[in-house]
Amino acid sequence: MLGLISLLVAARTSVSIQAPRPNVVFFLVDDLGWQDTSLSFGLREKLVGRHFRTPNVEALAKRGVQVNQAYAAAPVCTPSRVTLLSGINPARNHITNWVYDGRDTDGPDPTITLPDWRAIGFQPGDATTLPQVFHDSGYYTVEIGKAHFGAWHTKGERPTNLGFDRSIAGSAAGNPNSYYGLDNFARKKKNPNDPPALDDIQELDAYHGKDIYLTEALTAEAVKEIHRSAEMKKPLFLWFATYAVHAPIQANKKYLSHYKGMDPTEAAYATMVESYDVALGQLVSTLKKMGELDNTIIVFTSDNGGLSVSQRGGYPNLHNLPLRSGKGSAYEGGTRVPLVFAGPGIPAGKVLAKTFITSEDLFATMPDLAGIRANAPDGYSFKTEVTQGKDSEREQVNVWHFPHYRGGRGPGLQPFSSIRMGAFKAIFFYPDRKWELYNLETDIGETRDLSAFNPKQLKILADRLLLELRKMGAQFPTDPKTGQLIEPVYL
Ligand code: CA
Repeated sequence: MLGLISLLVAARTSVSIQAPRPNVVFFLVDDLGWQDTSLSFGLREKLVGRHFRTPNVEALAKRGVQVNQAYAAAPVCTPSRVTLLSGINPARNHITNWVYDGRDTDGPDPTITLPDWRAIGFQPGDATTLPQVFHDSGYYTVEIGKAHFGAWHTKGERPTNLGFDRSIAGSAAGNPNSYYGLDNFARKKKNPNDPPALDDIQELDAYHGKDIYLTEALTAEAVKEIHRSAEMKKPLFLWFATYAVHAPIQANKKYLSHYKGMDPTEAAYATMVESYDVALGQLVSTLKKMGELDNTIIVFTSDNGGLSVSQRGGYPNLHNLPLRSGKGSAYEGGTRVPLVFAGPGIPAGKVLAKTFITSEDLFATMPDLAGIRANAPDGYSFKTEVTQGKDSEREQVNVWHFPHYRGGRGPGLQPFSSIRMGAFKAIFFYPDRKWELYNLETDIGETRDLSAFNPKQLKILADRLLLELRKMGAQFPTDPKTGQLIEPVYL
């Protein structure tokens, strides 16, 4: 939380010699919407997603703490992932959009000039990374699955250049060209001697030509690495990041019979959901068999809200109800994500209903739960709240900065900055220089814009947003006619 930065001295990790440390499994599902589990995260009734089958997420929540108002640092992949990796808000490092090959990935904007941003993504030496923090405390640090930290053809495309001891199938790929082993997880080649295409998933040759789903191949590799860390007699930090449920929406056919009669695309999506849940179950059962489960902290979350603007079945922009919109949006559908903690020291069956924990905070919280201090430049450790299963009484402030177009048309899919303080959230949309204000405690769906009714409240949030963005050195769009910066100023 930004409001607490001043309390945190910019020291590097301090390490105390203490053994044995718990394992930490960070289970990150790509593009998983807030309601894309069978948990409701505080809703009295699920409006969407009642068909999802995630018994293993439910079991995790039963023996741990679920956080009803968790947030990703950005409404798209790379900036959130880099924040999880570094504890740095995108506004500070200017990695504000998703990376590809080092070129701009923005959609066009006819009305404003979008700012420069760091399109090569995160690079070695940019900041202390989460795996480095664990490595320095004696952990074996492994990345499996989607990385998407740095662009193709840069050092940052390799997780092993960013502090991981080992990496499997992680690269600059933001999505796989295929989820199927029968396709070698790759685009079909015109000529068998053609080199791999960008976004072909590498390092899984053992599964090529086999009838196996990508999530299953990643799980098999994770099980091997859990055993390897035990053989090494080192605690494990596993960053397990499924490529699912990111598009392309391709069914795991094993589970299709569970979703008969549904829209075929939504049925396929549901099998992607079920597949990550089965993976979670397999990691848990592996740890249990090895006698390590009670010594393992598991953190389950997503990197942005659920895709809803395109490629889904049914009507667009409604897949995250009651949240408004989805991936890429300034509204809650773009950034609110599931979050569950379980493991030693974490009470069973508790809920944090009011505390909002963000990607920046997870950077500090995960090591802290393992007894390691890691100072997140823009985050705060919520160890106390998680281990007591009680909401925070502290002032909470969080800032988002996404001066980009993700593409597609839908509510809030415009360059924006926003701030949440307590119950209120203010959003500034750059193209129209327009403010909106919502009370999320009474209006989770952001249906009633209060900006005209409560200008005093808006002024408080707007001033704080501008202050925090300037403090972090955020990059702003400019007016193409005058060349002047467009800052979120509320007069
Ligand atoms: Ca994502």
